[in-house]
Amino acid sequence: MKPPIVLGARNESCLLQCLDSLVAVVVARISENGQLLQANRGCGRLLNIPDDKLLPGLDVRNFFIQPTFAQLLAVSAQAECPVYEGIINVGDINTACRSLIGVVHRTGNQLLIVGEYDVAEMEMLNAQVIELNEQLTATQRELARSHRKLQESETNLRTQSLKDPLTGLANRRCLMDFLQNSMERYKRYQESFSVIMIDIDFFKQVNDDFGHDVGDEVLLAFSALTQSVIRKVDLVARLGGEEFIIVLPQTPLEGAMTKAEQLRASIGKFDFGSIQRGITASFGVAEYQSSDNVSILLKQVDMAMYASKNGGRNRVTAYCATEDG
Ligand code: GH3
Ligand code: MG
Ligand code: MG
Repeated sequence: MKPPIVLGARNESCLLQCLDSLVAVVVARISENGQLLQANRGCGRLLNIPDDKLLPGLDVRNFFIQPTFAQLLAVSAQAECPVYEGIINVGDINTACRSLIGVVHRTGNQLLIVGEYDVAEMEMLNAQVIELNEQLTATQRELARSHRKLQESETNLRTQSLKDPLTGLANRRCLMDFLQNSMERYKRYQESFSVIMIDIDFFKQVNDDFGHDVGDEVLLAFSALTQSVIRKVDLVARLGGEEFIIVLPQTPLEGAMTKAEQLRASIGKFDFGSIQRGITASFGVAEYQSSDNVSILLKQVDMAMYASKNGGRNRVTAYCATEDG
């Protein structure tokens, strides 16, 4: 049998002083009519009241759930024996009910409550916190995965918005960006660059003779062939229909003429499979000059290409300034 705790007036005030700053231990002295007379920090935490607001006089009767305040008062204990010992359920039964393990003493017309937080409850709360943390981590991981997917979709969308849907080549928008970039590089590093315009000869006839689908296949094969003869740094774009542009960075006119001639010859030798006749194309070539802008350059290369058409097609013509007329 445990010896009863003996609390004299001096012991009690000494005990209260010792426990004043502890937060896991609750110490409170309460008057018969339920007013808080003295409380340590743990009591403030339990009542959810900041230290500076924990004023004597606070009515805490309703705070006792099991046993109730009235039940505690009703017990007549022997002198120096607790009126209650065990689990004390306190707080708001609907929102924040907490369990303490402790004792309640009655000294004169006051109750002294000394308790500690229920360890089992703490462990349960800890387990809940750990579980919530795990859920949070899983959610964060899921969120990161969704974010990555979203970024991938955005990148895909951006890439798609710069591609020609039929051939997968760069589209006009991508071409314009590339040309603008090349022009900036020219201004900064004096890097010359040239463009080649290609227009397939009598392509309408291909569609008329073999159908639009075959025409598409020819466009695809033509695109692949063009890509196979250029360098990695070059850009092939489909301007629309059967017209293409190649931009050749760090390439003066002569180099571009050679490349165009090489491609023209490759087209002549290429077997376009489903059509029983050869395909040819007309080429225009122009080198960027410092006074030009992108649209002037495209106009010049277009003029050179039309000179090839007018000269009998299946040929390469360089733009020369006198053509502007
Ligand atoms: P030229 O030698 O003067 O260039 O004659 P052409 O017949 O090639 O030129 P024209 O501009 O008269 O005809 C171009 C044809 O290209 C007309 C159009 O039906 C066809 N075309 C445009 N876009 C596509 C496409 O995406 N697929 C297919 N199959 N045909 C297309
Ligand atoms: Mg055309
Ligand atoms: Mg054509």
